[in-house]
Amino acid sequence: MAKNTTKDYDAELNKTIFDIKHQRTFCMIKPDGVMRGLIGEIIRRIEKAGLKVVAMKMLTPDEDLIKKHYPTSDEKWIARLGNKSKSGLDGLSLDVKDTFGTDDDTELGQSVLSGLIEYMQSGPVVAMVVEGIQAIEMVRKLAGATLPFKAEMGTIRGDFSVDSPVVANVEGRSIHNLFHASENVKEAESEINLWFKGEIICDYSLGNDDIMYCKHY
Ligand code: UDP
Ligand code: MG
Repeated sequence: MAKNTTKDYDAELNKTIFDIKHQRTFCMIKPDGVMRGLIGEIIRRIEKAGLKVVAMKMLTPDEDLIKKHYPTSDEKWIARLGNKSKSGLDGLSLDVKDTFGTDDDTELGQSVLSGLIEYMQSGPVVAMVVEGIQAIEMVRKLAGATLPFKAEMGTIRGDFSVDSPVVANVEGRSIHNLFHASENVKEAESEINLWFKGEIICDYSLGNDDIMYCKHY
């Protein structure tokens, strides 16, 4: 307990600590992860990190759900997609326009987005809510960088996928990167609300909660 503080301050601090301990994020094993038999491996990594799966379901999403899931009317996000795709050229002596047909981030982002919408409907996904200390940042770390060939070894994308937007684009498809994880609090809240609206999010304790999260001695 913090010293020399008012009751209000202590109550506020306790609430903040509770919220940090119970932070929730949304994550999803994408169709390629399911079809490659990686459901168990991916969930194992989440659980091994000390995080808790508090809701889970399998479904094949339709176009409407995917369009709601990704911020498809956010121009900045679309331009960021295009820009990320361009970074697939790092280390290659290829021209942006020759490779992607455009060097405009937004135009390229739109084309990446249509491939992404198609890819995400290509089979069942496993959607989850995961809870724990700094869960959003933790699950992003477990996921690794977006582009598989840049994702660090030891991460889900780095260990199990190898793909590049240059190759994907030429083949008229999205990159296959196995796993989705919310990037920040706003994204986590809206994605949990979209995928699990009105559904039960479970509350239970892990056997090692005391050792991991509390002063047990
Ligand atoms: N994506 C893609 N090509 C790219 C960049 C992204 O196909 O050059 C897809 C990929 O499936 C990625 C998704 O778009 O996971 C959403 O992109 P975002 O930038 O939000 O990456 P994430 O948050 O998934 O790491
Ligand atoms: Mg994202």
